[in-house]
Amino acid sequence: MGTTTTALDDRVRYVADAVVTMDAQRTVHRPGMVEVHGDRIAAVGPLDPPERREGDREVVLGGLLMPGLVNCHGHTAMTLLRGAGDGLPLGRWLSEAIWPREARLTPDDAYWGMALGCAELLAAGVTTTAEQYLFPRAVAQAALDSGIRCVMAPAIFDLPGAGPDATWQRCLDVAGELHADLDGWGGRMTIALGPHSAYTVPEDGLVATAKIASELDALVHIHVAETQAEDEPIRSRYGMSTPAYLARVGLLDRRVLAAHSVWLSDEDLDLYRAHDVAVAHCPQSNGKLGSGIARVPDMLARGIRVGLGTDGPASNDNLDLWEELRLAPILARAVAVDAAAMATGEALALANLGGAGALGLDVGTLAPGHRADLVRLDLDDPVFVPGGTESELIAHLVWAASSRLVTDVWVGGRHVVADRTCTSVDVREAQRNVFERVRRLARAGH
Ligand SMILES: [Zn+2]
Repeated sequence: MGTTTTALDDRVRYVADAVVTMDAQRTVHRPGMVEVHGDRIAAVGPLDPPERREGDREVVLGGLLMPGLVNCHGHTAMTLLRGAGDGLPLGRWLSEAIWPREARLTPDDAYWGMALGCAELLAAGVTTTAEQYLFPRAVAQAALDSGIRCVMAPAIFDLPGAGPDATWQRCLDVAGELHADLDGWGGRMTIALGPHSAYTVPEDGLVATAKIASELDALVHIHVAETQAEDEPIRSRYGMSTPAYLARVGLLDRRVLAAHSVWLSDEDLDLYRAHDVAVAHCPQSNGKLGSGIARVPDMLARGIRVGLGTDGPASNDNLDLWEELRLAPILARAVAVDAAAMATGEALALANLGGAGALGLDVGTLAPGHRADLVRLDLDDPVFVPGGTESELIAHLVWAASSRLVTDVWVGGRHVVADRTCTSVDVREAQRNVFERVRRLARAGH
């Protein structure tokens, strides 16, 4: 492979044995090329019409190029809490294992946890991550430093035991300040609002969040209906489901990304559709915590926007979105007892196009004008045999491939993983920092 170190204003043509565009026609070029200018894609096509311009460079990559994967729900800095509270159900897991540790976190902890997690995401070919977490300024800075594209939602709730700064009012103020400072930064940072959930933020907090979201035109990233029992307080107090309650307080009138959304009735799904609520489907986290399986085929049938999420590494426990990409159609088919419950191409689209649609970003497809977020996979591997036809190639990507085949990653045209090495994060330093900080945090809780 030739060198791909390049200034961002160069125009570079990457040539690959296969280019899976995920455009509207799901075009696959074999061989194909992707031309990148600055942080955007300038052209995509088969190899034949290379009209060369003065100063163009061509890099013959071989392998397969596809859009970077889009993670729609993460608390990536929780690499600091990886595996904490294993075996506990969500409620006890939060109150006994997670919140006591999080109450001891410092901004530096969050920075290093995020830096390490971003290296893991990028190495797996995840080029965008939608985050909801504490210490949003430190987390956003780590994301920016790592080179990843990030939709950062400062967590908004009263964190038990974390002192006067961790009230929903203070969190909302911080979110507003961060939006003013960092929204749009570097073309890679979007600041959203992250009310944790309807069961951890009081009604006036949700109303205030909806108001600020309207003023800033910011995405609202919230956990909804993750477990069956979590809406009991809302049902007993208001006599309605969590989605109906969120509509009542005005939150669903904003742009909303609802993580999990496992326990939804038909009426709830209709409400999602009516308010164009997007879903971050987290099958692995939902499985590990014994929460249930979201009704993704029913969502897609209604035209609800759905992307995939890893959730945090304390409930997954890795940040490899290829596992969600495979698990989502497996669970959909198993639950429906129907091999046609989710088509293979539909599953692949959840990981790129679907995520981009859920977040409202111009990524997830290789098409002119879109952000140059690309992933290269090694095609010289047994899992891509036979792979002779287009449908075989797509099937191998979903059912047989994995993140181990990701060799190179570009975010906004910048080469951040080169020959399986993350060049934008000092991974050794991040590992050492997280390792040292984890021992301090583990003194609280399980
Ligand atoms: Zn979550």
